[in-house]
Amino acid sequence: MAAAFDDRDGVIWFDGALKDWRSTNVHVLTHALHYGSSVFEGVRVYGGHVFKLREHSLRLMFSAEQMGFEIPYTVEQIDQACLDVVKAQKIVDGYIRPFAWRGSEMIGVSAQQSKIHLAVAVWEWPSYYSPEARAKGIRMVTTKWRRPSPESGPVKAKAAGLYMICTLAKHAAEAEGCQDALMLDYRGLVAEATSANIFMNIEGKLHTPTADCFLNGLTRQTIMGLAKARGIEVVERFIKPEEIKNASEVFLTGTAAEITPVGQIDDLTFVPASMTDLLTKDYEAVTRNHKAAA
Ligand code: PMP
Repeated sequence: MAAAFDDRDGVIWFDGALKDWRSTNVHVLTHALHYGSSVFEGVRVYGGHVFKLREHSLRLMFSAEQMGFEIPYTVEQIDQACLDVVKAQKIVDGYIRPFAWRGSEMIGVSAQQSKIHLAVAVWEWPSYYSPEARAKGIRMVTTKWRRPSPESGPVKAKAAGLYMICTLAKHAAEAEGCQDALMLDYRGLVAEATSANIFMNIEGKLHTPTADCFLNGLTRQTIMGLAKARGIEVVERFIKPEEIKNASEVFLTGTAAEITPVGQIDDLTFVPASMTDLLTKDYEAVTRNHKAAA
């Protein structure tokens, strides 16, 4: 197993400076740790180039705003922090984790005076799912945990608190020998996986659930653009779980997951085929050639 995340060499960008990795700590009485007041991003570096850096930094700012706090840095400074830490860590292909959180000035539900912190770490992370699981298509099981309604939380934010249900769902799926869980939303409609969006090839068209109560992933948006550029009709709509049986191919998209073929959801099986292959190649091309990025 790789070294634990608190026991690695190098530096982490923390509140404006590069600090030694092992000693970049927060106090145990940090608001974010008790009340989930933190937001984060996941960004990939391909061949030394950070893919969609500005979009990720903007989403971090947006998530913070949704959580009712303001990051005390500009979007340009967040971009620069990512670039500085990638350079310092000499990462060519990797994953950047920028995150912002409420500090330890106040412990209690109210946190009006809390200071907002920002940190950025980066590490090498080749594939989110194991290459073996990915080649066959990952196995998924529908979880009982549902994506909450927009009235019950900041559902469009990449906010740490929302991942509580994702970890519960993912652990339940792993206990059944699966790699991920299919999450329905509060209405019982197909939503997404625990950290990736979902797409289906239904009769040659690319169907994906309307992102009205979960993250409208940047990869999701890229894939929709790539599909349209290939003349594939993209259908964003509400999808009922009983419609999944009509899909011939299913795949997940996400910054970490990239395009991951799905081989099984509950009792249904799928074989990755031409649409998955084509979009995977196109996605590889845009991530490695940022000038052509959709
Ligand atoms: N949904 C969830 C819950 C996620 O955590 C992610 C990963 N950020 C996604 C979807 C995909 O988003 P993106 O393509 O922007 O990485």
